Amino acid sequence: MTSLAHTVLQDAFGYAHFRGSQQAIVDHVIGGDDALVLMPTGGGKSLCYQIPAIVRQQQGHGTTIVISPLIALMHDQVSAMHEIGVDAAFLNSTLDYDQTRDVELQLLSGGITLLYVAPERLNTPRFLGLLDELHAMGKLALFAIDEAHCVSQWGHDFRPEYRELTVLHQRYAGVPRIALTATADALTRADIVERMQLESARVFISSFDRANIRYTIVEKKDASAQLLRFIEREHDGDAGVVYCLSRKKVEEVAQTLCDAGVNALPYHAGLGAELRQKNQSRFLREEGIVMVATIAFGMGINKPDVRFVAHVDMPKNIESYYQETGRGGRDGLPADAWMAYGYRDVVSQRSMIDESPAGDAFKQVMRGKLDALLGLAEGTDCRRVRLLAYFDEVYGQGGDYDSAHPEASAASAEKAPRYQCGNCDNCLNPPKTWDGTDAARKLLSTIYRAHAASQVTFGATHILDIVRGKETDKVRQFSHQQLSTFGLCQDYTEPQLRGVLRQLLAIGALATQKMQTEAGYSFETLVLCDGSRAVLRGEQTVELRESTAERSPSKRQRST
Ligand code: ADP
Ligand code: ZN
Repeated sequence: MTSLAHTVLQDAFGYAHFRGSQQAIVDHVIGGDDALVLMPTGGGKSLCYQIPAIVRQQQGHGTTIVISPLIALMHDQVSAMHEIGVDAAFLNSTLDYDQTRDVELQLLSGGITLLYVAPERLNTPRFLGLLDELHAMGKLALFAIDEAHCVSQWGHDFRPEYRELTVLHQRYAGVPRIALTATADALTRADIVERMQLESARVFISSFDRANIRYTIVEKKDASAQLLRFIEREHDGDAGVVYCLSRKKVEEVAQTLCDAGVNALPYHAGLGAELRQKNQSRFLREEGIVMVATIAFGMGINKPDVRFVAHVDMPKNIESYYQETGRGGRDGLPADAWMAYGYRDVVSQRSMIDESPAGDAFKQVMRGKLDALLGLAEGTDCRRVRLLAYFDEVYGQGGDYDSAHPEASAASAEKAPRYQCGNCDNCLNPPKTWDGTDAARKLLSTIYRAHAASQVTFGATHILDIVRGKETDKVRQFSHQQLSTFGLCQDYTEPQLRGVLRQLLAIGALATQKMQTEAGYSFETLVLCDGSRAVLRGEQTVELRESTAERSPSKRQRST
Protein backbone atom coordinates (compact mmCIF):
# COMPACT_ATOMS: atom_id res chain seq x y z
CA MET A 1 0.00 0.00 0.00
CA THR A 2 1.34 3.39 -0.90
CA SER A 3 1.06 5.92 1.89
CA LEU A 4 0.05 9.51 1.39
CA ALA A 5 3.63 10.51 2.19
CA HIS A 6 4.94 8.28 -0.59
CA THR A 7 2.51 9.72 -3.08
CA VAL A 8 3.67 13.23 -2.22
CA LEU A 9 7.32 12.15 -2.47
CA GLN A 10 6.77 10.77 -5.95
CA ASP A 11 4.18 13.11 -7.40
CA ALA A 12 5.26 16.43 -5.97
CA PHE A 13 9.00 15.95 -5.47
CA GLY A 14 9.60 13.38 -8.20
CA TYR A 15 11.73 11.07 -6.05
CA ALA A 16 11.28 7.32 -6.14
CA HIS A 17 12.35 6.49 -2.58
CA PHE A 18 12.90 7.97 0.80
CA ARG A 19 16.50 8.17 1.90
CA GLY A 20 17.87 6.75 5.14
CA SER A 21 15.56 7.54 8.01
CA GLN A 22 13.42 10.07 6.12
CA GLN A 23 10.44 7.74 5.96
CA ALA A 24 10.44 7.01 9.69
CA ILE A 25 10.78 10.70 10.48
CA VAL A 26 8.03 11.76 8.07
CA ASP A 27 5.61 9.11 9.39
CA HIS A 28 6.33 10.05 12.97
CA VAL A 29 5.72 13.76 12.38
CA ILE A 30 2.59 13.22 10.27
CA GLY A 31 1.30 11.25 13.25
CA GLY A 32 1.52 14.44 15.31
CA ASP A 33 4.54 13.68 17.50
CA ASP A 34 7.71 15.66 18.22
CA ALA A 35 11.06 14.80 16.64
CA LEU A 36 14.68 15.86 16.88
CA VAL A 37 16.54 15.14 13.65
CA LEU A 38 20.31 15.12 13.31
CA MET A 39 21.34 14.63 9.73
CA PRO A 40 24.46 15.78 7.93
CA THR A 41 24.35 18.55 5.36
CA GLY A 42 22.96 17.24 2.11
CA GLY A 43 21.22 14.38 3.90
CA GLY A 44 17.76 15.65 2.97
CA LYS A 45 16.40 17.37 6.05
CA SER A 46 14.00 19.68 4.20
CA LEU A 47 11.80 16.81 3.03
CA CYS A 48 11.41 15.71 6.64
CA TYR A 49 9.16 18.69 7.35
CA GLN A 50 7.98 19.62 3.86
CA ILE A 51 6.19 16.33 3.28
CA PRO A 52 4.52 16.31 6.70
CA ALA A 53 3.47 19.93 6.05
CA ILE A 54 1.81 18.97 2.76
CA VAL A 55 0.15 15.86 4.18
CA ARG A 56 -1.07 17.54 7.35
CA GLN A 57 -2.51 20.40 5.29
CA GLN A 58 -4.39 17.85 3.17
CA GLN A 59 -5.68 16.29 6.38
CA GLY A 60 -7.11 19.63 7.45
CA HIS A 61 -4.56 20.53 10.13
CA GLY A 62 -3.60 23.81 8.50
CA THR A 63 -0.29 25.61 8.16
CA THR A 64 3.27 24.54 9.05
CA ILE A 65 5.48 27.30 10.45
CA VAL A 66 9.16 26.90 9.52
CA ILE A 67 11.61 28.80 11.72
CA SER A 68 14.87 29.45 9.93
CA PRO A 69 17.64 31.94 10.64
CA LEU A 70 18.66 32.05 7.00
CA ILE A 71 16.69 34.93 5.53
CA ALA A 72 18.74 34.70 2.35
CA LEU A 73 17.52 31.15 1.79
CA MET A 74 13.82 31.68 2.48
CA HIS A 75 13.17 33.13 -0.92
CA ASP A 76 14.78 30.12 -2.66
CA GLN A 77 12.89 27.64 -0.56
CA VAL A 78 9.58 29.33 -1.17
CA SER A 79 10.26 29.42 -4.93
CA ALA A 80 11.15 25.72 -4.86
CA MET A 81 7.84 24.98 -3.16
CA HIS A 82 5.92 27.07 -5.71
CA GLU A 83 7.59 25.13 -8.51
CA ILE A 84 6.11 21.89 -7.25
CA GLY A 85 2.73 23.52 -6.69
CA VAL A 86 2.83 23.96 -2.92
CA ASP A 87 1.50 27.18 -1.35
CA ALA A 88 4.37 28.69 0.57
CA ALA A 89 5.39 32.17 1.73
CA PHE A 90 7.82 33.90 4.01
CA LEU A 91 7.66 36.76 6.45
CA ASN A 92 10.87 38.67 7.03
CA SER A 93 12.40 42.10 7.03
CA THR A 94 12.72 42.19 3.24
CA LEU A 95 8.93 42.59 2.84
CA ASP A 96 7.27 46.00 2.95
CA TYR A 97 4.08 46.73 4.86
CA ASP A 98 1.65 45.81 2.08
CA GLN A 99 3.46 42.58 1.22
CA THR A 100 3.44 41.58 4.87
CA ARG A 101 -0.26 42.32 5.11
CA ASP A 102 -0.95 40.18 2.02
CA VAL A 103 0.88 37.21 3.49
CA GLU A 104 -0.97 37.60 6.79
CA LEU A 105 -4.35 37.65 5.11
CA GLN A 106 -3.47 34.65 3.01
CA LEU A 107 -2.32 32.86 6.14
CA LEU A 108 -5.55 33.50 8.00
CA SER A 109 -7.63 32.37 5.04
CA GLY A 110 -5.87 29.01 5.17
CA GLY A 111 -4.08 29.52 1.86
CA ILE A 112 -0.55 28.74 3.04
CA THR A 113 0.91 25.28 3.58
CA LEU A 114 4.43 26.35 4.59
CA LEU A 115 5.23 29.70 6.16
CA TYR A 116 8.92 30.53 6.67
CA VAL A 117 9.78 33.02 9.41
CA ALA A 118 12.93 34.25 11.11
CA PRO A 119 13.17 33.53 14.83
CA GLU A 120 13.23 37.19 15.80
CA ARG A 121 9.85 37.73 14.16
CA LEU A 122 8.22 34.80 15.87
CA ASN A 123 8.17 36.29 19.31
CA THR A 124 6.61 39.62 18.31
CA PRO A 125 3.11 40.40 19.63
CA ARG A 126 1.85 40.82 16.10
CA PHE A 127 3.02 37.44 14.92
CA LEU A 128 1.97 35.63 18.08
CA GLY A 129 -1.46 37.20 17.58
CA LEU A 130 -1.64 35.59 14.13
CA LEU A 131 -0.56 32.23 15.52
CA ASP A 132 -3.16 32.54 18.32
CA GLU A 133 -5.86 33.04 15.71
CA LEU A 134 -4.72 30.06 13.67
CA HIS A 135 -4.47 27.96 16.80
CA ALA A 136 -7.99 28.91 17.85
CA MET A 137 -9.21 27.66 14.45
CA GLY A 138 -7.21 24.44 14.81
CA LYS A 139 -5.09 25.44 11.85
CA LEU A 140 -1.57 25.17 13.22
CA ALA A 141 -0.27 21.93 11.72
CA LEU A 142 3.38 21.81 12.74
CA PHE A 143 6.40 23.83 13.84
CA ALA A 144 9.64 23.02 12.03
CA ILE A 145 12.73 24.51 13.68
CA ASP A 146 15.63 24.46 11.26
CA GLU A 147 19.28 24.89 12.36
CA ALA A 148 18.24 23.91 15.87
CA HIS A 149 21.83 24.04 17.17
CA CYS A 150 21.45 27.84 17.15
CA VAL A 151 19.67 27.47 20.51
CA SER A 152 22.85 26.26 22.17
CA GLN A 153 25.74 28.42 23.21
CA TRP A 154 27.90 25.33 22.79
CA GLY A 155 26.97 25.11 19.12
CA HIS A 156 28.92 27.01 16.52
CA ASP A 157 26.27 29.57 15.77
CA PHE A 158 24.44 30.61 18.93
CA ARG A 159 21.47 32.90 18.36
CA PRO A 160 19.77 34.26 21.46
CA GLU A 161 16.41 34.53 19.63
CA TYR A 162 16.30 30.73 19.54
CA ARG A 163 15.98 30.72 23.31
CA GLU A 164 12.57 32.35 22.89
CA LEU A 165 11.29 29.38 20.91
CA THR A 166 10.09 27.62 24.05
CA VAL A 167 7.06 29.85 23.60
CA LEU A 168 5.91 27.40 20.91
CA HIS A 169 5.76 24.55 23.33
CA GLN A 170 4.21 26.57 26.13
CA ARG A 171 1.64 28.51 24.16
CA TYR A 172 0.66 25.87 21.60
CA ALA A 173 1.18 22.69 23.56
CA GLY A 174 -0.68 20.34 21.26
CA VAL A 175 1.09 21.36 18.05
CA PRO A 176 3.88 18.95 17.04
CA ARG A 177 7.44 20.21 16.61
CA ILE A 178 10.31 18.93 14.53
CA ALA A 179 13.77 20.36 15.26
CA LEU A 180 16.55 19.76 12.72
CA THR A 181 20.28 20.29 12.64
CA ALA A 182 23.28 19.15 10.66
CA THR A 183 25.68 19.36 13.51
CA ALA A 184 25.60 18.70 17.20
CA ASP A 185 28.02 16.90 19.44
CA ALA A 186 26.70 15.23 22.58
CA LEU A 187 26.83 18.45 24.61
CA THR A 188 25.02 20.56 22.02
CA ARG A 189 22.48 17.81 21.47
CA ALA A 190 21.62 17.64 25.18
CA ASP A 191 21.40 21.41 25.25
CA ILE A 192 18.93 21.47 22.34
CA VAL A 193 16.68 18.97 24.10
CA GLU A 194 16.77 20.93 27.35
CA ARG A 195 16.43 24.42 25.91
CA MET A 196 13.61 23.54 23.54
CA GLN A 197 11.91 21.24 26.00
CA LEU A 198 12.08 18.34 23.58
CA GLU A 199 12.44 15.68 26.28
CA SER A 200 9.63 13.59 24.83
CA ALA A 201 10.68 14.00 21.20
CA ARG A 202 11.85 10.95 19.29
CA VAL A 203 15.49 11.41 18.32
CA PHE A 204 16.68 10.40 14.86
CA ILE A 205 20.41 10.48 14.27
CA SER A 206 21.78 9.69 10.83
CA SER A 207 25.31 8.63 10.12
CA PHE A 208 27.47 11.72 9.89
CA ASP A 209 29.94 10.17 7.55
CA ARG A 210 30.48 12.11 4.34
CA ALA A 211 32.15 9.28 2.47
CA ASN A 212 32.84 11.33 -0.66
CA ILE A 213 34.87 13.94 1.24
CA ARG A 214 38.60 13.33 1.47
CA TYR A 215 40.20 14.88 4.54
CA THR A 216 43.73 16.26 4.41
CA ILE A 217 45.50 18.34 7.05
CA VAL A 218 48.96 19.65 6.24
CA GLU A 219 51.51 21.52 8.27
CA LYS A 220 51.37 25.21 7.51
CA LYS A 221 54.44 26.84 6.03
CA ASP A 222 53.32 29.44 3.55
CA ALA A 223 49.58 28.88 3.50
CA SER A 224 48.86 30.85 0.32
CA ALA A 225 51.58 29.08 -1.65
CA GLN A 226 50.54 25.68 -0.32
CA LEU A 227 46.92 26.40 -1.16
CA LEU A 228 47.85 27.48 -4.66
CA ARG A 229 49.82 24.27 -5.24
CA PHE A 230 46.89 22.23 -3.91
CA ILE A 231 44.44 23.97 -6.24
CA GLU A 232 46.72 23.75 -9.27
CA ARG A 233 47.50 20.10 -8.68
CA GLU A 234 44.06 18.82 -7.76
CA HIS A 235 41.36 21.36 -8.52
CA ASP A 236 42.26 23.33 -11.58
CA GLY A 237 39.07 25.08 -12.71
CA ASP A 238 36.91 23.70 -9.89
CA ALA A 239 34.57 25.61 -7.63
CA GLY A 240 35.76 25.80 -4.05
CA VAL A 241 35.63 27.71 -0.79
CA VAL A 242 38.70 28.91 1.12
CA TYR A 243 38.15 29.89 4.75
CA CYS A 244 40.36 32.47 6.50
CA LEU A 245 40.11 33.89 9.99
CA SER A 246 40.48 37.59 9.17
CA ARG A 247 39.35 40.00 6.50
CA LYS A 248 42.95 40.94 5.84
CA LYS A 249 43.88 37.33 5.19
CA VAL A 250 40.89 36.95 2.87
CA GLU A 251 42.15 39.87 0.80
CA GLU A 252 45.71 38.54 0.72
CA VAL A 253 44.81 35.00 -0.23
CA ALA A 254 42.30 36.11 -2.87
CA GLN A 255 44.97 38.35 -4.38
CA THR A 256 47.58 35.56 -4.43
CA LEU A 257 45.14 33.23 -6.16
CA CYS A 258 44.04 35.85 -8.70
CA ASP A 259 47.67 36.71 -9.49
CA ALA A 260 48.23 33.05 -10.28
CA GLY A 261 45.25 32.97 -12.61
CA VAL A 262 42.73 31.30 -10.30
CA ASN A 263 39.22 32.69 -10.59
CA ALA A 264 38.98 33.82 -6.96
CA LEU A 265 36.62 36.28 -5.25
CA PRO A 266 36.77 37.67 -1.71
CA TYR A 267 33.88 37.60 0.75
CA HIS A 268 33.82 39.16 4.21
CA ALA A 269 31.69 41.48 6.32
CA GLY A 270 33.85 44.50 5.51
CA LEU A 271 33.06 44.42 1.80
CA GLY A 272 29.68 46.11 1.78
CA ALA A 273 26.39 44.36 1.21
CA GLU A 274 26.24 45.01 -2.51
CA LEU A 275 29.66 43.58 -3.40
CA ARG A 276 29.12 40.62 -1.08
CA GLN A 277 25.82 39.86 -2.74
CA LYS A 278 27.40 40.20 -6.18
CA ASN A 279 30.29 37.86 -5.34
CA GLN A 280 27.97 35.35 -3.78
CA SER A 281 25.68 35.18 -6.76
CA ARG A 282 28.64 34.88 -9.13
CA PHE A 283 29.89 31.97 -7.03
CA LEU A 284 26.48 30.30 -7.25
CA ARG A 285 25.89 30.95 -10.94
CA GLU A 286 29.26 30.78 -12.66
CA GLU A 287 31.46 27.73 -12.96
CA GLY A 288 34.76 27.25 -11.24
CA ILE A 289 34.82 30.22 -8.87
CA VAL A 290 36.92 29.97 -5.73
CA MET A 291 35.36 31.96 -2.90
CA VAL A 292 37.91 33.17 -0.36
CA ALA A 293 35.91 34.02 2.74
CA THR A 294 35.56 34.45 6.45
CA ILE A 295 33.04 32.23 8.20
CA ALA A 296 30.47 34.93 7.42
CA PHE A 297 30.12 33.05 4.15
CA GLY A 298 28.39 29.75 3.75
CA MET A 299 25.53 29.40 6.17
CA GLY A 300 22.88 28.07 3.89
CA ILE A 301 24.80 28.29 0.64
CA ASN A 302 23.40 25.36 -1.23
CA LYS A 303 25.77 24.85 -4.13
CA PRO A 304 25.99 21.16 -4.90
CA ASP A 305 29.24 21.06 -6.91
CA VAL A 306 31.73 22.66 -4.51
CA ARG A 307 34.75 20.42 -5.17
CA PHE A 308 36.91 21.55 -2.27
CA VAL A 309 36.76 23.42 1.00
CA ALA A 310 40.12 24.69 2.22
CA HIS A 311 41.02 26.17 5.57
CA VAL A 312 44.15 28.30 5.59
CA ASP A 313 43.41 29.07 9.25
CA MET A 314 42.19 26.54 11.75
CA PRO A 315 38.55 26.89 12.88
CA LYS A 316 37.70 26.93 16.58
CA ASN A 317 36.39 23.42 17.03
CA ILE A 318 35.44 20.17 15.30
CA GLU A 319 31.81 21.17 14.85
CA SER A 320 32.80 24.23 12.85
CA TYR A 321 35.33 22.20 10.88
CA TYR A 322 32.73 19.56 10.10
CA GLN A 323 30.08 22.12 9.19
CA GLU A 324 32.40 24.11 6.93
CA THR A 325 34.00 21.12 5.20
CA GLY A 326 30.50 19.68 4.79
CA ARG A 327 29.73 22.39 2.24
CA GLY A 328 31.87 20.46 -0.24
CA GLY A 329 30.50 17.63 -2.37
CA ARG A 330 26.81 17.96 -1.63
CA ASP A 331 26.16 16.31 -4.99
CA GLY A 332 27.78 13.12 -3.69
CA LEU A 333 30.77 13.34 -6.05
CA PRO A 334 34.34 13.34 -4.70
CA ALA A 335 35.37 16.51 -2.86
CA ASP A 336 38.35 17.58 -0.77
CA ALA A 337 38.53 19.04 2.72
CA TRP A 338 42.00 20.53 2.95
CA MET A 339 43.45 22.39 5.91
CA ALA A 340 46.82 23.97 6.61
CA TYR A 341 47.51 24.12 10.31
CA GLY A 342 50.42 25.56 12.26
CA TYR A 343 51.83 26.86 15.47
CA ARG A 344 50.23 30.31 15.10
CA ASP A 345 46.78 28.74 14.80
CA VAL A 346 47.11 27.09 18.18
CA VAL A 347 48.34 30.30 19.78
CA SER A 348 45.68 32.51 18.24
CA GLN A 349 42.77 30.17 18.98
CA ARG A 350 43.97 29.73 22.56
CA SER A 351 44.31 33.45 23.13
CA MET A 352 40.92 34.19 21.54
CA ILE A 353 39.41 31.96 24.21
CA ASP A 354 41.52 33.44 27.00
CA GLU A 355 40.64 36.97 26.03
CA SER A 356 36.95 36.47 25.40
CA PRO A 357 34.68 38.13 27.94
CA ALA A 358 33.04 34.77 28.73
CA GLY A 359 33.07 33.12 32.16
CA ASP A 360 35.59 30.50 33.25
CA ALA A 361 33.28 27.52 32.88
CA PHE A 362 32.48 28.53 29.32
CA LYS A 363 36.15 29.03 28.50
CA GLN A 364 36.91 25.60 29.89
CA VAL A 365 34.39 23.99 27.54
CA MET A 366 35.78 25.96 24.60
CA ARG A 367 39.32 24.87 25.46
CA GLY A 368 38.18 21.25 25.55
CA LYS A 369 36.59 21.62 22.14
CA LEU A 370 39.69 23.25 20.72
CA ASP A 371 41.83 20.44 22.14
CA ALA A 372 39.70 17.87 20.32
CA LEU A 373 40.37 19.68 17.05
CA LEU A 374 44.09 19.91 17.81
CA GLY A 375 44.02 16.18 18.46
CA LEU A 376 42.50 15.67 15.04
CA ALA A 377 45.10 17.90 13.38
CA GLU A 378 48.09 16.36 15.15
CA GLY A 379 46.79 12.78 14.98
CA THR A 380 48.47 10.17 12.84
CA ASP A 381 45.43 7.89 12.70
CA CYS A 382 42.43 7.96 10.34
CA ARG A 383 40.86 11.44 10.28
CA ARG A 384 37.38 10.10 9.55
CA VAL A 385 37.44 7.68 12.47
CA ARG A 386 38.33 10.56 14.79
CA LEU A 387 35.89 12.98 13.28
CA LEU A 388 32.98 10.56 13.61
CA ALA A 389 34.06 9.49 17.08
CA TYR A 390 33.72 13.12 18.10
CA PHE A 391 30.04 12.87 17.19
CA ASP A 392 29.78 9.56 19.09
CA GLU A 393 29.71 7.54 15.92
CA VAL A 394 31.81 4.42 15.45
CA TYR A 395 33.06 4.35 11.87
CA GLY A 396 31.90 1.24 10.06
CA GLN A 397 28.91 0.69 12.33
CA GLY A 398 26.59 2.92 10.38
CA GLY A 399 25.60 5.37 13.05
CA ASP A 400 21.90 5.51 12.19
CA TYR A 401 20.03 5.77 15.43
CA ASP A 402 16.35 6.00 16.30
CA SER A 403 15.50 6.54 19.96
CA ALA A 404 12.27 4.57 19.56
CA HIS A 405 14.18 1.49 18.43
CA PRO A 406 17.64 1.74 19.95
CA GLU A 407 18.07 -2.02 19.76
CA ALA A 408 17.57 -2.02 16.00
CA SER A 409 19.78 0.98 15.32
CA ALA A 410 22.75 0.34 13.13
CA ALA A 411 25.09 1.63 15.80
CA SER A 412 24.28 -1.30 18.03
CA ALA A 413 24.23 -3.89 15.26
CA GLU A 414 26.94 -6.47 15.48
CA LYS A 415 29.21 -4.98 12.91
CA ALA A 416 32.89 -4.58 13.45
CA PRO A 417 34.17 -1.03 13.75
CA ARG A 418 36.64 0.01 11.07
CA TYR A 419 39.83 1.82 11.85
CA GLN A 420 40.72 3.01 8.36
CA CYS A 421 38.60 4.84 5.81
CA GLY A 422 41.01 4.75 2.89
CA ASN A 423 39.96 8.28 1.94
CA CYS A 424 41.98 10.63 4.14
CA ASP A 425 45.62 11.70 4.08
CA ASN A 426 46.62 9.51 7.01
CA CYS A 427 45.05 6.40 5.46
CA LEU A 428 46.36 7.07 1.97
CA ASN A 429 49.80 8.13 3.07
CA PRO A 430 50.50 6.93 6.61
CA PRO A 431 52.65 9.63 8.18
CA LYS A 432 56.10 8.82 9.48
CA THR A 433 56.63 9.92 13.03
CA TRP A 434 59.69 10.91 14.99
CA ASP A 435 60.39 11.13 18.70
CA GLY A 436 60.48 14.78 19.68
CA THR A 437 60.87 14.19 23.42
CA ASP A 438 64.52 15.23 23.58
CA ALA A 439 63.93 18.45 21.63
CA ALA A 440 60.83 19.13 23.74
CA ARG A 441 62.77 18.90 27.00
CA LYS A 442 65.51 21.19 25.70
CA LEU A 443 62.94 23.74 24.55
CA LEU A 444 61.02 23.66 27.83
CA SER A 445 64.16 24.04 29.87
CA THR A 446 65.29 26.95 27.68
CA ILE A 447 61.94 28.69 28.21
CA TYR A 448 62.38 28.17 31.93
CA ARG A 449 65.99 29.36 32.04
CA ALA A 450 65.49 32.42 29.85
CA HIS A 451 62.62 33.51 32.08
CA ALA A 452 64.57 32.82 35.28
CA ALA A 453 67.65 34.67 34.03
CA SER A 454 65.89 37.73 32.64
CA GLN A 455 62.60 37.98 34.60
CA VAL A 456 60.61 38.45 31.39
CA THR A 457 59.03 35.94 29.05
CA PHE A 458 59.97 35.41 25.40
CA GLY A 459 58.26 34.46 22.17
CA ALA A 460 58.90 31.38 20.06
CA THR A 461 61.33 33.06 17.65
CA HIS A 462 63.73 34.10 20.38
CA ILE A 463 63.57 30.71 22.12
CA LEU A 464 64.34 29.02 18.81
CA ASP A 465 67.28 31.37 18.22
CA ILE A 466 68.72 30.35 21.60
CA VAL A 467 68.47 26.59 21.13
CA ARG A 468 69.73 26.86 17.57
CA GLY A 469 72.75 28.85 18.76
CA LYS A 470 72.04 32.07 16.88
CA GLU A 471 73.70 35.15 18.35
CA THR A 472 71.10 37.72 17.41
CA ASP A 473 71.03 41.25 18.86
CA LYS A 474 68.30 40.19 21.22
CA VAL A 475 70.23 37.11 22.34
CA ARG A 476 73.24 39.31 23.14
CA GLN A 477 71.08 41.97 24.77
CA PHE A 478 69.90 39.40 27.33
CA SER A 479 73.22 37.47 27.37
CA HIS A 480 71.26 34.35 26.44
CA GLN A 481 74.32 32.92 24.67
CA GLN A 482 75.42 32.08 28.21
CA LEU A 483 72.42 29.84 28.93
CA SER A 484 73.46 26.19 29.23
CA THR A 485 70.94 25.20 26.55
CA PHE A 486 72.33 27.69 24.00
CA GLY A 487 72.93 25.87 20.72
CA LEU A 488 71.80 22.50 22.05
CA CYS A 489 69.26 21.91 19.26
CA GLN A 490 71.46 22.56 16.23
CA ASP A 491 70.69 19.09 14.90
CA TYR A 492 67.07 19.97 14.41
CA THR A 493 65.61 22.13 11.65
CA GLU A 494 63.59 25.17 12.53
CA PRO A 495 60.31 23.65 11.21
CA GLN A 496 60.96 20.59 13.35
CA LEU A 497 61.38 22.70 16.45
CA ARG A 498 58.31 24.77 15.64
CA GLY A 499 56.46 21.49 15.28
CA VAL A 500 57.59 20.49 18.75
CA LEU A 501 56.38 23.80 20.23
CA ARG A 502 53.07 23.42 18.45
CA GLN A 503 52.67 19.89 19.74
CA LEU A 504 53.57 20.98 23.27
CA LEU A 505 50.88 23.65 23.10
CA ALA A 506 48.42 21.16 21.65
CA ILE A 507 48.94 18.66 24.45
CA GLY A 508 48.88 21.34 27.15
CA ALA A 509 52.54 21.00 28.11
CA LEU A 510 53.19 24.63 27.27
CA ALA A 511 51.17 27.81 27.65
CA THR A 512 51.24 31.31 26.22
CA GLN A 513 51.15 34.69 27.89
CA LYS A 514 50.54 38.05 26.32
CA MET A 515 53.36 40.60 26.58
CA GLN A 516 53.04 44.28 25.97
CA THR A 517 55.98 46.02 24.32
CA GLU A 518 56.90 49.58 25.21
CA ALA A 519 55.64 50.65 21.81
CA GLY A 520 52.26 49.36 22.98
CA TYR A 521 51.86 46.37 20.72
CA SER A 522 51.40 42.96 22.23
CA PHE A 523 52.65 39.51 21.31
CA GLU A 524 52.40 35.98 22.65
CA THR A 525 55.23 34.65 24.77
CA LEU A 526 55.84 31.11 25.98
CA VAL A 527 55.55 30.03 29.62
CA LEU A 528 55.70 26.69 31.40
CA CYS A 529 52.53 25.28 32.96
CA ASP A 530 51.54 22.28 35.10
CA GLY A 531 51.54 20.03 32.05
CA SER A 532 55.21 20.84 31.34
CA ARG A 533 56.43 18.85 34.29
CA ALA A 534 55.66 15.38 32.92
CA VAL A 535 57.61 16.13 29.73
CA LEU A 536 60.56 17.66 31.60
CA ARG A 537 60.75 14.65 33.89
CA GLY A 538 60.65 12.28 30.93
CA GLU A 539 57.31 10.82 32.01
CA GLN A 540 55.60 11.87 28.82
CA THR A 541 56.94 11.38 25.33
CA VAL A 542 56.25 13.73 22.46
CA GLU A 543 55.47 12.00 19.22
CA LEU A 544 55.51 14.10 16.05
CA ARG A 545 54.49 13.58 12.50
CA GLU A 546 57.25 14.20 10.02
CA SER A 547 56.72 17.39 8.09
CA THR A 548 53.69 16.98 5.88
CA ALA A 549 53.81 20.33 4.17
CA GLU A 550 55.09 18.87 0.93
CA ARG A 551 53.15 15.68 1.14
CA SER A 552 49.83 15.39 -0.52
CA PRO A 553 47.75 12.36 -1.36
CA SER A 554 48.28 11.31 -4.93
CA LYS A 555 46.03 12.97 -7.43
CA ARG A 556 42.58 11.58 -7.16
CA GLN A 557 41.15 9.35 -9.85
CA ARG A 558 38.01 11.05 -10.98
CA SER A 559 36.44 7.86 -12.30
CA THR A 560 34.72 6.65 -9.14
P1 ADP B 1 19.99 19.26 3.98
O1 ADP B 1 18.99 20.34 4.31
O2 ADP B 1 19.93 18.10 4.91
O3 ADP B 1 21.38 19.77 3.78
P2 ADP B 1 18.47 19.07 1.59
O4 ADP B 1 17.14 18.95 2.21
O5 ADP B 1 18.85 20.38 0.99
O6 ADP B 1 19.60 18.63 2.61
O7 ADP B 1 18.64 17.92 0.53
C1 ADP B 1 19.84 17.73 -0.17
C2 ADP B 1 19.55 17.29 -1.60
O8 ADP B 1 19.08 15.94 -1.60
C3 ADP B 1 18.49 18.12 -2.26
O9 ADP B 1 18.89 18.37 -3.58
C4 ADP B 1 17.26 17.24 -2.20
O10 ADP B 1 16.34 17.55 -3.23
C5 ADP B 1 17.86 15.85 -2.33
N1 ADP B 1 17.02 14.80 -1.73
C6 ADP B 1 16.51 14.80 -0.48
N2 ADP B 1 15.79 13.67 -0.25
C7 ADP B 1 15.87 12.93 -1.37
C8 ADP B 1 15.34 11.64 -1.76
N3 ADP B 1 14.61 10.90 -0.93
N4 ADP B 1 15.63 11.21 -2.99
C9 ADP B 1 16.39 11.97 -3.84
N5 ADP B 1 16.92 13.18 -3.54
C10 ADP B 1 16.65 13.66 -2.33
ZN1 ZN C 1 41.04 7.60 6.92
